[in-house]
Amino acid sequence: MKRELFTGYQSERDLERFEANLCTLCGKKISLLGFCSEASVYDYFRNGMCGPCQQAVYGIDPETFQIAEPFFDEESRTHEVRYNLLTLDDDYIHISQSFANLLYRAMETKEIPYYHMIEHGNQIWLYGEIENAGDHVFFKDKRSTKSDGFGGATLTFPLEDGSMMRLQGPWHSNPDSMKAQTGVDLTKRHLTFSIIARQRLHSRRGEVYNEILGGDDWPVVDEFDFGEKRAKALANNLGEPVGLCTYSVGGSRMGMVKPD
Ligand SMILES: [Zn+2]
Repeated sequence: MKRELFTGYQSERDLERFEANLCTLCGKKISLLGFCSEASVYDYFRNGMCGPCQQAVYGIDPETFQIAEPFFDEESRTHEVRYNLLTLDDDYIHISQSFANLLYRAMETKEIPYYHMIEHGNQIWLYGEIENAGDHVFFKDKRSTKSDGFGGATLTFPLEDGSMMRLQGPWHSNPDSMKAQTGVDLTKRHLTFSIIARQRLHSRRGEVYNEILGGDDWPVVDEFDFGEKRAKALANNLGEPVGLCTYSVGGSRMGMVKPD
């Protein structure tokens, strides 16, 4: 699903490694936390190299590395100087808007080849043929001729048998509702990424999570609240609140998770 994002590959092996979240040079598992700057994450999408390999190849000293080049920010239409985003020691992570953008880029899904359809009484349920199918669930009540989902627009969904299903105003739904109605369980098919830390600090340009306790190296497919569950377990273990930053395809949630 990632290969469409990889622009600078040299060989099929590079492409395979990139898609498997492995470094194109050393073959080790890629960690988002291993990149020492935003620029190096951008570079990753060009050359597929992990953070440590980039530093070795470019001769970067991660201790002193700072990005001094002005960067044009598309959103604010201004130039800004970017600074280090991540440290190499994995001890803290700065969640800036740019980091969020990169995460969403890593979470981008390829085009869904077709949808599975379940007819249940008057209900039509559709879900995408994709690893994180839980993020691509749609619902329509057959009796409703003026449904307001997607602003009432008529959407076309390719089906497995090659036909096209046109639905007026379908709703983007969720696996919990679909499971309750149809019994089909996609509740563990969400793409999520979480950071759990002992401390959560606010900065003007984002949040800093200090003393990382757990989380993901790369977006994973699991339950929608996979991050919350792990944070809760850690909070209970420690007997104190922990900071949680969790991303899903739909958005992000940040806050403290208290022990029970
Ligand atoms: Zn590497």
